[in-house]
Amino acid sequence: MSSYPLKHNPFFAQWLVLGVALLLLGGVAGYDLYLERGRIQRQEEERLLAMARVIQENVEHNLDSVNQALEDLRKELPARLPDTNLNQQLKTLTDAMPSVRTININDATGAIQASNRAELVGKNLNFNQREYFKAPFQHPDAAMLFVSPPFRTTLGVFSIVVTRMIPGPKGEFVGVIAAGLDPQYFEPLLDSVRYAPDMVVSLHHGDGILYMILPHERDGLVGRNLAVPGSPFTLHKESGQAATVFSVKMLASGEERMLAQRTIQPARLKMDKSLGVAVSRLLDDIYAPWLHDVQVKVGLFVLTSLALSLGLIAYQRRQRQFFLKESETAKAIAASEQFMRVLTDNIPGMVGYWTSELRCRFANKAYLEWFGKTVEQMRDIRIQDLMGETLFRKNEPYMRAALRGERQDFERTLIKADGSTGYTWAHYIPDMDGKQVKGFFVLVSDITQLKQAEMALAQSEWKLKTIIETAPECVKVLAPDGTLRQMNRAGLEMIEADTEEQVVGAKMADIVASEYRAAFIALNERVNQGEAGTLEFEIVGLKGGHHWLDTHAVPVRDVNGQIMGLLGVTRDITEHKQVLQELERLSQTDSLTSLANRRHFMTLAEQELSRALRYGGPLSLFMMDIDHFKNINDTYGHQTGDQVLQRLGALCLETLRDIDSVGRIGGEEFAVVLPHTDGEHALEVAERLRQTIARAEVVLEHSLPLSFTVSIGVTTLLGASANIDTLIGQADSALYQAKRAGRNRVWVFGNSNG
Ligand code: GH3
Ligand code: MG
Ligand code: MG
Repeated sequence: MSSYPLKHNPFFAQWLVLGVALLLLGGVAGYDLYLERGRIQRQEEERLLAMARVIQENVEHNLDSVNQALEDLRKELPARLPDTNLNQQLKTLTDAMPSVRTININDATGAIQASNRAELVGKNLNFNQREYFKAPFQHPDAAMLFVSPPFRTTLGVFSIVVTRMIPGPKGEFVGVIAAGLDPQYFEPLLDSVRYAPDMVVSLHHGDGILYMILPHERDGLVGRNLAVPGSPFTLHKESGQAATVFSVKMLASGEERMLAQRTIQPARLKMDKSLGVAVSRLLDDIYAPWLHDVQVKVGLFVLTSLALSLGLIAYQRRQRQFFLKESETAKAIAASEQFMRVLTDNIPGMVGYWTSELRCRFANKAYLEWFGKTVEQMRDIRIQDLMGETLFRKNEPYMRAALRGERQDFERTLIKADGSTGYTWAHYIPDMDGKQVKGFFVLVSDITQLKQAEMALAQSEWKLKTIIETAPECVKVLAPDGTLRQMNRAGLEMIEADTEEQVVGAKMADIVASEYRAAFIALNERVNQGEAGTLEFEIVGLKGGHHWLDTHAVPVRDVNGQIMGLLGVTRDITEHKQVLQELERLSQTDSLTSLANRRHFMTLAEQELSRALRYGGPLSLFMMDIDHFKNINDTYGHQTGDQVLQRLGALCLETLRDIDSVGRIGGEEFAVVLPHTDGEHALEVAERLRQTIARAEVVLEHSLPLSFTVSIGVTTLLGASANIDTLIGQADSALYQAKRAGRNRVWVFGNSNG
């Protein structure tokens, strides 16, 4: 069901047009047929009238001849009556006039005086009751041609008799001359005008009696009186016209005929009664070809109408299907457009479409709000009018490029409808149709907040970067696998790298000194587990330098809290470490002789003793004291004494083995620990040292070279419960014995002699 008003229904209009066209076509064809029928009617009327005229003229001509013959005869009569040859003359006359069957001459009483018919003469026949006699008898007029109604004659012929009165000397009625017309004569004449089989031709008397009719099937009508109301005869008579044509229903037969009638009564003949001729055709036959034409045309019209209607139905069906499909398509498009709008309205950005003429085809809610426009204001708006000239000029190069088919992505500062400044990230994406650019899509994101955050972040990042770059410590980031991601300048210097690129991606453990590598990797793993940690370690720099480093490592997490690496802040503690080592060395060393000082010697001796006790090896120890050192000091001065002490230290180091430890434990007292050495060997070593010292000389500037000697007391570890003080006590005791025995000798603890 269409909800449209009827006048808006295109199908109705089409039917209306078809109906009007068919009506016009039918009207024209009908009118043409109507005209054709009129033409046929007129043509037929003319032909029938012409045929009737042919008969009229022939009959008139014949009547002229008969009348002339009668008049000629009448002139001769007075001289010839009675004349026996008259009958013969009448016979000759009638033989010459084929239309005349009988000529009688009757006297005033009606008796036949002469006749061409011998059978009528001398029979005393009287025809005074015949109409042809009675008419002139009652209204004698010599100038008149009397025409009798048709009647059956004595001889059995249905005839019309034309009569001339025979006047006497004073013009009185003395008889008649009568000629009986032969209907057979007129037959060929009547038949000759019948150009169609349905054609009926007849002659009748002026009073209405039918005289003759063709074709012969209608002979039964002969003698009938046509002068009845409503008959064609009566109609003709009433018309007062000499010639008429009527299309009427025939009273006798009920046929509908076109009938042409002519009155035969030429003035020159002065006939008392007229004759009439009627020529007719069946209307059905006249109009048969026309009717056939009508049928053919109606048939064609019906067929044409049917074909056009069926065509229109088929066309409308196709069109309806097309409309249906079109409306479905339109609905689908509308739905998809609605979906697009909802979709784009919910996008937190401006979405639009501009045609190649730079007119707006589409703008989502955000776009409309940005420019403060309604959908209606936005529709088809020119981009210049929307943006204003300044903004348009700024964006024009991007638009032109997009319309050349090149995608545009750019940042733009825009002034919003409320006057505030916004940052946008804009994309102009060409809408390509093959090589043709139909327009371009616009996608603009409001990145004002993002931009502000980005600027703040950039600033803080810049600050941080500056801090890191200028920091004196190494700041580095390692990936969880231990490879370097980032390192500041101070760090690069520490590991002796020239650029960051040189070391980014390298495994940091590789430059760690081997003895610290395991600890370094362990720290990395702990940080990967989320712990923080510190480590002191040594590295070998890229250029071979050794550095002591102290690092503090913490995990670096991403925004999700996932550990993404290690941040290490590392100090180079090499110098500090060297100072410490030097201090330690100094605290252990005697500055004059460079030998271990007493405290350090005690430590070394303890270590050697505990090792010997643990592993059960032999160990010996001896104490050594310079003989009469006081005298050296007194004789050569304190400085020479120092020289002697230094020389003694050097001699010890030269003579003793590397595994032996020697220390200065007093002013001019020295102690030596001999690991893996029993008493016998210790004595040998002590003896060799004593002799070496005794042979040595200290070269002096202003006197002869100086010699000196030492005394040595030796002891050897015996029991497992011994401690270092006991051993030193024993060695001291042996040394005392060596002094007492005369000096410059070696005394072994526990021996009675030296
Ligand atoms: P003895 O043979 O009995 O050992 O006789 P001695 O003269 O060596 O006697 P003693 O051991 O009592 O004398 C030690 C002297 O050594 C006393 C001191 O002046 C001197 N002396 C101690 N330390 C130093 C030193 O560092 N430098 C110098 N030049 N002399 C020192
Ligand atoms: Mg002494
Ligand atoms: Mg001494």
